[in-house]
Amino acid sequence: MDLFDLGRDELHVGGLPLSLLAERVGQTPFYAYDRALIAARIAAVRERLPRGVQLHYAVKANPMAALVGFIGPLVDGMDVASAGELKLALDAGADPRSIGFAGPGKRDAELRQAVAAGVLLHVESAREFALLAAAAQALGRPARVALRINPDFELRGAGMHMGGGAKPFGIDAEQVPAMLRAMAREGLAFEGFHVYPGSQNLRGQVLAESLQRSMDLVLRLAQDAPAPLRYVNLGGGWGIPYVVGEKRLDLSPVADALARAHAAVARDWPAARLALELGRYLVGEAGIYVARVLDRKVSRGQVFLVTDGGMHQHLAASGNFGQVIRRNYPVVIGNRLQSAERESVTVVGPLCTPLDVLAERMDLAVARPGDLVVVLQSGAYGASASPQAFLGHPPCAEVLV
Ligand SMILES: *Cc1c(COP(=O)(O)O)cnc(C)c1O
Repeated sequence: MDLFDLGRDELHVGGLPLSLLAERVGQTPFYAYDRALIAARIAAVRERLPRGVQLHYAVKANPMAALVGFIGPLVDGMDVASAGELKLALDAGADPRSIGFAGPGKRDAELRQAVAAGVLLHVESAREFALLAAAAQALGRPARVALRINPDFELRGAGMHMGGGAKPFGIDAEQVPAMLRAMAREGLAFEGFHVYPGSQNLRGQVLAESLQRSMDLVLRLAQDAPAPLRYVNLGGGWGIPYVVGEKRLDLSPVADALARAHAAVARDWPAARLALELGRYLVGEAGIYVARVLDRKVSRGQVFLVTDGGMHQHLAASGNFGQVIRRNYPVVIGNRLQSAERESVTVVGPLCTPLDVLAERMDLAVARPGDLVVVLQSGAYGASASPQAFLGHPPCAEVLV
């Protein structure tokens, strides 16, 4: 299954030609996410997971309500990182027992909401203990908790490091035994551990090694736990290729490491669930961003396509969402896939800032005003991860097809 149908001049999403979809949406720019591609990706991941390992969706990657509702029945749980995402997951029908709530700075009100909902809280600071205990007392409901561990190792080659060294996320591994004792004193319902070393990793061996080390750490720390281990979330961090030359993640070593981790948990803690949380890997390749060409300008020999979409709606494609060096996302002229007439162009948005670049000196089909520029690999960290209010342009639309 693919967005590209060989021999067609026009990109298809969910079986619809792009220009027709644009009419249906009623505006450009827009994001479109393909249900069939998402379902196929989730099925492919499940095929590689050892039986019994649970698959969670990290809502942060794409919080569009219809998409979260679509994914809900296909996964075993949702991971949220704010009360807003918690509401989304609950509205989508997720079972509160299968929702995990992480985040380095949870407000008092968020902690109470999470206790009221009965979700699992990934505690990241001693400050949260007292607040959770008070919420549990006030509401007459248990505060279900897992400790998020900041591991004593770092994930090499990850796009974004979120564990190891000094981090605001989680509790340093060496402080965990004392935290577990404090947790027991507060009467919180300990269920397990969460380890999240980082995001956007394309190296299977590195991920496998990190899984192994996370598992060893969890089993060691579980010795000091106030209750039997019932839950282990080993994170995810599976990357997708965004730029030319990036290789797809090889899942073989990851699947082997998961199988070993699963066997180790089953041996020592038979009642424990092992979960994996994936965001972009499930949805990133199933989405596109579509903007219309407003103008084609030539400045001192360089061709610029000026579109109605840009960095305010797709910050990542502009290179300003955590990238160190700006590199082009895959971009095509969605209604001229077969065109032999090509040229090197820079695609920009309507914002009055040089940061508003969607593609720089890329070889694309020669385009005219009215044509549709498509940024591929845009199903994650798109609309919700972009500063849409910047410069006062109207918001983009999002559709699930
Ligand atoms: C951001 C995040 C994820 C999702 O990351 P992806 O790279 O989209 O898979 C999962 N878990 C935690 C704790 C996160 O912070």
